[in-house]
Parts: sequence; structure tokens; C-alpha cells
Amino acid sequence: ENRMMSLAKDVTNQKVWEKGLIEAMKAADEASRAKSEFLANMSHEIRTPMNGLLGIIDLLDHTNLDEEQSQYLEIIKNSGSSLLSIIKDILDYSKIEAGKMDLNPTLGNPAEELEKQIQIFYGLAQEKSITLKTDIGKAAYGLFETDFDRINQVILNLVGNALKFTPQNGQVTVSMDAEQIENELHYLKIQVKDSGIGIPEKHIPSLTDPFFQVESSSTRSYQGTGLGLAIAKKIVELMGGELNINSTVGEGSEFSFSVLLKKDLKAQEEKVQKSS
Ligand code: ADP
Repeated sequence: ENRMMSLAKDVTNQKVWEKGLIEAMKAADEASRAKSEFLANMSHEIRTPMNGLLGIIDLLDHTNLDEEQSQYLEIIKNSGSSLLSIIKDILDYSKIEAGKMDLNPTLGNPAEELEKQIQIFYGLAQEKSITLKTDIGKAAYGLFETDFDRINQVILNLVGNALKFTPQNGQVTVSMDAEQIENELHYLKIQVKDSGIGIPEKHIPSLTDPFFQVESSSTRSYQGTGLGLAIAKKIVELMGGELNINSTVGEGSEFSFSVLLKKDLKAQEEKVQKSS
């Protein structure tokens, strides 16, 4: 009977403990959400006056300044823009964390969209004598419904990183393809491969942590906030896909991601009928 009693007590203790744990987790969740909300509000409040400042700087830039004044203004302008982009990143990240990032699907052609986006980088690639190539599968040229702005945001981050962490005369290749899962449902698969500095294996799992950078801030030779990949991972997951990273130090890195999208079969048919 004693054993029964102690067993019953154990079970009760277990229940009490479990209840406590669940409550603690709920409280932690709530605290984390409150923190994300605070960050989102704060970033939003900073962004508005910051845009105002940048607007005035732009106006000043069009007045008659002497060379010294122009140089100072250029510094203010650059600092302002990089501050604004940090704030945008924090806003994006905290919005996702607070569950407040909405997707805005539109109808478009992923392959053509990618070709447009890549144009932005040809100048930068040329400056570093990096060969920037695309390799796009036929299936990616259809009409699909998805949030193209968010996909572009991830692509811009990955290609920007690839160019940043690849030395002179290297190569960066962006591949894209679509794979049908069932009916109109497809996976869009995108890979950004570079011949850059690579990433030590032990750091790979931390790359998508917010603010993580391989180089410590004191010895840093590359600019950035360490938020890009954290945001990219969240966006990709929000869109039903995943982000994978493979890398070898001294050889290069491969960042690939997938997102779920819907093929617009009706619009596709109409387009074919019109053109025939
Ligand atoms: P940021 O580029 O602003 O530092 P990210 O989150 O985009 O932030 O990247 C985090 C870190 O991951 C970078 O600081 C860098 O150390 C590493 N990294 C990302 N992409 C690459 C790449 N293509 N090659 C080598 N290292 C990379």
C-alpha cells in the first residue's frame, strides 16, 4: 500500500511539474512575442524619421556644395543608408518572429523574375572579375502564383553574400528549377553556388542564427549585420520550403532553398491559346 501511495504521489508530482513546465513555456513564448513586437514597433518608428533624413540629404546633394562639403555629405548618406538597411532587417526579422509577416502572392514567371534580379549584380561581379551565371530549367518558365518579392529578397541576400565572400576571378552560379508535387502544387528550387572562401563545418548550423557572423566583429573585413540568413531561413520556411547549406573551406559554398508554389494552369492555358 505504501508503494501505491508513493507511486500516486510520484504521478501527482509529475503532473504538477508538467503543468509548471507548460506554464513556464507559455510565459516564455509570451515574453518572446512581446520582445519581437517591441522590436518591430521600434524599428518602424525609427524608419520613418530616417527616411525623412535621407530625403533631406538627397536635397542637399543637389545644391551647390564645395568639394569638402560634398565629401562629408557622402559619408552621412552612406551611414544613413546602412543604418536604414539594418533597421529594415530588424523590422523584417521581428515581424516574422511575432508571426506578423504576411505573404502577398501575385502571378508571375519565376525564371524571368530571376533573370531580372540578377541584372542588379552584373556590375558588382564585373568589378571583381567574377563570372556570374544562371542555369534555369524549362519548368521554371511557367506562370505561378507566389510572393515574388519575398523570393527576390532571399535571392538578393544569397547572391549578395556569394559575391561578397568570393575573391577576384571566382565564379557564382544561380540555378533554378521547378518540380511538380501534385496537380498545380510545385516546389521551386533555387541554388546559389560560389567558389569563395567557404565556411568551417562547425559554423554551418549557426549561420541562420540572428546576428551570427563567422568572423568576430573585432577582426571583421566584411560588412554586414548577420541578419540576412536568419531572415532568409524564416521566409523560406514561411513559404513551405527549407534552406540548406553546404560548404568547404577554400573551395566554396552552396546555398539552396525551396518554396512551395501554385502553377496557374488556367492562365497558362489562356496564354498558350492566345499565342497560337
Ligand atoms: P551578413 O552577410 O550580413 O554578415 P548573413 O546572415 O547573410 O549576414 O551571413 C552570416 C555569415 O555567414 C556571414 O557573416 C559570413 O560569415 C557567412 N556567409 C554567408 N554567406 C557566405 C558565403 N557565400 N561564403 C562564405 N561565408 C558566408
